[in-house]
Amino acid sequence: MQTNTKIRLLSNVVIIYLLFAFAWWSVLLYQKNRDTFQAKADLLQLQYQLEHPDLGDEFEESRLFQELKSRFQRQEWMILGEGLFFVISLMIGIWLINRAYYKEMTAAQQQKNFILSITHELKSPIATIRLVLDTFIKRTLPEDTIRSLSRNGLKETERLLALVNDLLLSARLETAYQPNLEMVELCSLIQDILQNYPGKNIQLQCDAATISMVADKTGITSIMTNLIENGLKYAPENARLLISLKPSDSNLDIVVADEGYGIPDKEKKRIFTKFYRIGNEDTRKSKGTGLGLYIVAEIVRAHKGSISVLDNLPSGTRFIINLPLRQNNAQIA
Ligand code: ADP
Repeated sequence: MQTNTKIRLLSNVVIIYLLFAFAWWSVLLYQKNRDTFQAKADLLQLQYQLEHPDLGDEFEESRLFQELKSRFQRQEWMILGEGLFFVISLMIGIWLINRAYYKEMTAAQQQKNFILSITHELKSPIATIRLVLDTFIKRTLPEDTIRSLSRNGLKETERLLALVNDLLLSARLETAYQPNLEMVELCSLIQDILQNYPGKNIQLQCDAATISMVADKTGITSIMTNLIENGLKYAPENARLLISLKPSDSNLDIVVADEGYGIPDKEKKRIFTKFYRIGNEDTRKSKGTGLGLYIVAEIVRAHKGSISVLDNLPSGTRFIINLPLRQNNAQIA
């Protein structure tokens, strides 16, 4: 068992013990208070009868008894109020401990995931490039093999570059990212990006002949590339990916809908967290770093837009990005 799990268990046991002990002491105090009141009232009644032998049953109406009774009632309320306050404080304590524990566990899991995935993502292209160069040195190869190996090496270099760029961009998004605004024609920008995915089942639907907006071109390219790559990566081979652009007077909806494996409801909020990947790095097969959707969400935020994720029917995921058109367009004027 891990140390923080033990600490959490121990503190929960101590708190629960305190809760029971306090409840028991409260009941005891309550009973003692009642007994004391009864004893004092009996004594007072005896004194009263001695001092007023001619009076009948009016003791309970007497000033002294009424004072004693109201003091007793005040003490009863005090015990009840303090007990309740203590119980509520303990409950809040348990809740805070569990919340902190859960946060720490998630952070530790994310860190572990990140280190494992980044190590893999860095090592595998480097190993391929090294193998290609090694083969070139050690063997004399025909021209077409050299070409094919060089293409492979180049592809891996690009993968490495993309990873380094993602890491740099995510660091910049935390500190110094400012969208570099210019007029962008979105349909043709996305068409250009789609050139990088020949043979893939991707459909682009633009609801107007041209859809222009003021935005950061590199940022929008990064958003679309990440969503397209995820849509292909987390879906069976040849599943359809539909991208639609729906402008209205003041807003633009960019919808990326895949027919893939989908995202469970409880994960939908977490996937935008930096380095978060669903599942466990030891068992997961897909490559990635958990940076893509974080970058997407941050760039959307910098454009004063919003992003949501829904289930696609009958299967898959639908990412909907809503960007304000007027506000951004006004900024360039
Ligand atoms: P990466 O793809 O590098 O793991 P992302 O930040 O892009 O990181 O995505 C975070 C997680 O969200 C992924 O690990 C994956 O489990 C899940 N995810 C993202 N997009 C999709 C999608 N289109 N379909 C199913 N799961 C997805």
